[in-house]
Amino acid sequence: MSAVNAMQRNSDACDLAPGYIHAIAPYQPGKPIAELARELNLDPDSIIKLASNENPLGVSPLAMQAMQQALADIARYPDGNGFELKQAIVQKFGVAMPQIVLGNGSNDVLDMAARAFLAPGLEAIYSQHAFAVYPIATQTIGAAGVEVPAKNFGHDLDAMLKAVTAQTRMVFIANPNNPTGTLLRADELLRFLRALPAQVLVVLDEAYNEYLAAELKADSIVWLVEFPNLVVTRTFSKAYGLAGLRVGYALAHERVADLMNRVRQPFNVNSMSLTAAAAAINDHEFVRRSCELNALGMEQITQGLAKLGLSFIPSYGNFVSFKVVDANKTFQQLLRRGVIVRPVAGYGMPGYLRVSTGLEAENARFLEALKASLAE
Ligand SMILES: *Cc1c(COP(=O)(O)O)cnc(C)c1O
Repeated sequence: MSAVNAMQRNSDACDLAPGYIHAIAPYQPGKPIAELARELNLDPDSIIKLASNENPLGVSPLAMQAMQQALADIARYPDGNGFELKQAIVQKFGVAMPQIVLGNGSNDVLDMAARAFLAPGLEAIYSQHAFAVYPIATQTIGAAGVEVPAKNFGHDLDAMLKAVTAQTRMVFIANPNNPTGTLLRADELLRFLRALPAQVLVVLDEAYNEYLAAELKADSIVWLVEFPNLVVTRTFSKAYGLAGLRVGYALAHERVADLMNRVRQPFNVNSMSLTAAAAAINDHEFVRRSCELNALGMEQITQGLAKLGLSFIPSYGNFVSFKVVDANKTFQQLLRRGVIVRPVAGYGMPGYLRVSTGLEAENARFLEALKASLAE
């Protein structure tokens, strides 16, 4: 009997999948409304979901209009180069078209960065409590993920710099970070970029950038001129209200973007998403209203949490993580009251729950349900 046959008798394909794939902790998404409705036999309309940092205002009206027109063309493949959306990005940010990488959500561009630049034997650095996609993207390649302890729940850039070795090719930074909501100042980031060796790419994930007050926004896209090892990622999932469509992008030096585009699936962004995003990027009124609502919601929720005697991590995103005695118990109690929030034990924060800002009435209902749950 051949060696191959002998192997087939002893182990199956799953046993033989690489150890680094077996080691991946699967991403835990927020619970969908329909799932909770099925499980607890609730009316879906009675459930509020504040679990995935979605936009409570829904979809940008300009995007909605554009999608209705795009629907008629759905039999055709999308524009694999995404010309129209790239053109809109060029006009907004003054970058050149070859600097853009479009993704099926910014998750996709994070993954492309890992696939283009990492390999077994190489390392990527990210912070404790940082976005869960960084370890997943790194481990998928068989590269080593180096998790650096956080400082006050935020990125400790000095410690991350010290963690760089000859094998390091990538550092992931979420600014603001999810689920902690912490923000690095522009001067801290600049100092970090200047200190980093040229062979290390910095993937600066700015998924919540639109929510920041103007004076808190870093000039990250301008920095691309000075730092050919910088990759800035943005998304249409949050302030633009297109999470279900899955569209995001990276801006980088042309050579970096070229390598990322090589590992991109030919039609990774669908035609609906391309059209909607190109319209949404110019819907300044919608983004302005989203930010305004978020600021009010953040005030309402954090004041409510303080009133309940709960501590929370001050957040610059559209969500806030707060501390309870038994996060899993409170999560379940909230579910029974039709309120979905997000447990963050998988982020090394077992005592915390994360709540996204919603409409005023949704925030109020969350706070009432929380108060009742804690009193049970
Ligand atoms: C929500 C989020 C994203 C965006 O993911 P998409 O794939 O664009 O929906 C990226 N990074 C962070 C830190 C996020 O919280």
